[in-house]
Amino acid sequence: MKVAIIGAGPGGLMAAEVLSAAGADVTVYDRMPSVARKLLIAGRGGLNLTHSEPFERFVARYGAAAPRLKPILEAFAPSALIAWAEGLGQPTFVGTSGRVFPKAMKASPLLRAWLTRLERQGVVIKPRHEWHGWDEHGRLLFAQSGETVHVTADATILALGGASWPKLGSTGTWVDVLRARGVAVTPLRPANCGFTAAWSETFRDRFEGTPLKNIALSFHGETVRGEALITRAGIEGGAVYALSSALRSALDHTGHATLMVDLRPDLSHADVLAKLARPRGSETVANFLRKTLALAPVAVNLLRETHGKDLSLDAPTLARHIKGAPITLTGTAPIDRAISTAGGVALDAVDENLMLKAMPNVYAVGEMLDWEAPTGGYLLQATFATAVAAARALLASERHTASR
Ligand SMILES: Cc1cc2nc3c(=O)[nH]c(=O)nc-3n(C[C@H](O)[C@H](O)[C@H](O)COP(=O)(O)OP(=O)(O)OC[C@H]3O[C@@H](n4cnc5c(N)ncnc54)[C@H](O)[C@@H]3O)c2cc1C
Repeated sequence: MKVAIIGAGPGGLMAAEVLSAAGADVTVYDRMPSVARKLLIAGRGGLNLTHSEPFERFVARYGAAAPRLKPILEAFAPSALIAWAEGLGQPTFVGTSGRVFPKAMKASPLLRAWLTRLERQGVVIKPRHEWHGWDEHGRLLFAQSGETVHVTADATILALGGASWPKLGSTGTWVDVLRARGVAVTPLRPANCGFTAAWSETFRDRFEGTPLKNIALSFHGETVRGEALITRAGIEGGAVYALSSALRSALDHTGHATLMVDLRPDLSHADVLAKLARPRGSETVANFLRKTLALAPVAVNLLRETHGKDLSLDAPTLARHIKGAPITLTGTAPIDRAISTAGGVALDAVDENLMLKAMPNVYAVGEMLDWEAPTGGYLLQATFATAVAAARALLASERHTASR
């Protein structure tokens, strides 16, 4: 069986591994000069492969897509992903938050060992092949150094990714190609993304790139502890990403969303009030807040942004402001800087084996499918699991055909 896999990210390479291990003739095409660039970037801040929480809670992280993904994740569970990484010589550990990382933290040693295995299994990788769809004979069409290349295959696996960080190769140009073939695709949207806020010029110039450490963010009854980063256009970072799906949806529906920042989440309102009750003497409010509550300049100035230039000298009011600084978000930051993509090939447009209903023998896997999840290893886990599911289903259908 000759299989063309398009997209050499973690999804495409995992499908290639499963298929080639069973003897399929596999070629992986990618538009970039080298493979898995997003996986390598993902490893820059510590490659979070998966999560160790109980399975039911794990599956629930995929929201509306959870019922469809559950059997797929059961068939290639976090434990299987950990065993796979360890089989490639990359032992893992569970971080304090329950997230699972390779001990090496980076993706590069894992990718090196993986590519060696794929080569041994006969997988051919063709970089610099940009896919443009199918020709009138149903052959796959690629552009390679100005030339058009036509490829025939018994089956095709599309693993083209979403549209975040497009400079790494995933640009979402496949959306129009598939829609033209009658495949339903939900618009691609930023997920795990930042948001825009109308900072004053002074705040923006002074604090762009400054982290707000050890804060809690709240929106619609959900509170997340962590860190955020002030950007020129607004705010991003781990704690923001965790609320990004709800924030994006509020902005879509109502045009506004207010993110509440607790600048001292480890202290109760009463504790803050008690500290503010100390005599201030001749100190400026900013200095007083730095000394009594360890509020960094960015935090003090965020209070000025959210509650007015002149900070209240009334302790109960100031305590309330410190425990709840409202940031008015004006929009979603562009998808280019988002960690992942929401939207994609509608789950109704694929069968239970992830084959496109409109195009027999063409499968879609990974982030190009319409599911989203927070950061925490859920993105890679679902990418790998959907790739395994499609590859196994393809092998099963081939065996079925051969036995008839
Ligand atoms: C900064 C950052 C950090 C991240 N950290 C983590 C993390 O720690 N844990 C986690 O779980 N997830 C993380 N992610 C997300 C994770 O990297 C992605 O979910 C994952 O890479 C998706 O895999 P994929 O194979 O579906 O798509 P991709 O990795 O995007 O691969 C798709 C491939 O298809 C190729 N392609 C696209 N269009 C074409 C075309 N027309 N022709 C030919 N080739 C094409 C691209 O060049 C690319 O190589 C992170 C993402 C970013 C941006």
